[in-house]
Amino acid sequence: MSFEETRKDFPILTQQIYGKPLVYFDNAATTQKPVCVIEKIKNAYYEQNANIHRGVHFLSERATEAHECARKKVQQFINARSSNEIIFTRGTTEAINLVAFSFGETFCKEGDEIIVTEMEHHSNIVPWQMMCERKKVHLKVAHFDENGMLNLDELRKLTNENTKLIAVAHVSNVLGTVNPVKEIAQIAHAAGALLLVDGAQSVPHLQVDVQDIDADFFAFSGHKIYGPTGIGVLFGKEQLLEKMQPYQGGGEMIQKVTFEKTTYNELPFKFEAGTPDFIGSTALAEALNYVDKLGMKNIAQYEHDLLEYARIRLSEIDGMRFFGNAPDRSGVLSFLVGNIHPYDMGSILDKLGIAVRTGHHCAQPVMDHFGIEGTVRTSFAFYNTKAEIDTLFNGIVRAQKMFR
Ligand code: PMP
Repeated sequence: MSFEETRKDFPILTQQIYGKPLVYFDNAATTQKPVCVIEKIKNAYYEQNANIHRGVHFLSERATEAHECARKKVQQFINARSSNEIIFTRGTTEAINLVAFSFGETFCKEGDEIIVTEMEHHSNIVPWQMMCERKKVHLKVAHFDENGMLNLDELRKLTNENTKLIAVAHVSNVLGTVNPVKEIAQIAHAAGALLLVDGAQSVPHLQVDVQDIDADFFAFSGHKIYGPTGIGVLFGKEQLLEKMQPYQGGGEMIQKVTFEKTTYNELPFKFEAGTPDFIGSTALAEALNYVDKLGMKNIAQYEHDLLEYARIRLSEIDGMRFFGNAPDRSGVLSFLVGNIHPYDMGSILDKLGIAVRTGHHCAQPVMDHFGIEGTVRTSFAFYNTKAEIDTLFNGIVRAQKMFR
């Protein structure tokens, strides 16, 4: 099957925007959903809606089974050792906040150090800043070069016996850089530190194997991989999660509650207080089944070709400046054209039916690095085509003429 054929599975793509066919290039923000995922959500509410884990009745058991099957699907998808290592969260942001809180409370003390990189999304910076302030831990920053590649020598030098954890994006949501997370895991582990990988922008585009990376924690969002909003995943090595304090208290995360002392449930439930998004988890599993059928390797290859085509095509444009020139890139292409403000460019493209994102992309330190306010960002999915990139090219040229 050609990837163009997948378009028929995504009803939203048939829309016209201002009388023009929709060209959706904002996939790094969120992806569109295939019919099978939409139907899964609908059918779950039609046929099996009941709260999970707590009921003896038929519907509750059915919903529980679907939620736990979804956990197994995620385990298999990222090759975790056990489904106990899969915690459902609201998304990447909540997953990182969970680790920053629970890991911080359990393992960090005054004088310890956490390392993040200059290319992180705010959701892999701010939770660490909050934890560092609370625990009097020092936050250090590893920088990237003009091509958008991390300086691993600097990272090695920053890492020492005080380092507790390195937090790094697998793929940058602005630069598209694929970071060498396996090597970074070795750097962290050699110093006795741990590695958290923000996989929000890698899981939709690359085959991920958390055991091969040897990540201690790995986070991603369902809505960026064709699943629904409101569901995401934290993977954590079982022996670490076992030791970590719970993140939130409430129903389901307990074993026994008395006013004198409460004991906590076993993994993974210890970290899933309250009613989880059990419809979302089921729909996420459906999305993962969908991409599995296409094959992550095929997706990666197709999207790589699209990205290269876009780069070659757009580089023909006068005044085109790309941000992120690392040899290994995925998913996104950020740029500015001459001195056209990204917001103006985005607004003109919008009127032509082309959805791109403009601004700082929740990565203000990346903007500061280049001394800019923002960029235009196009981000790709397997349902995008080279013809759409040609439409984008024409749109940019038109915008340029308007500003001349
Ligand atoms: N990390 C990266 C690299 C991202 O691109 C995003 C989403 N833009 C996030 C984290 C946060 O994801 P979410 O908003 O789904 O929690």
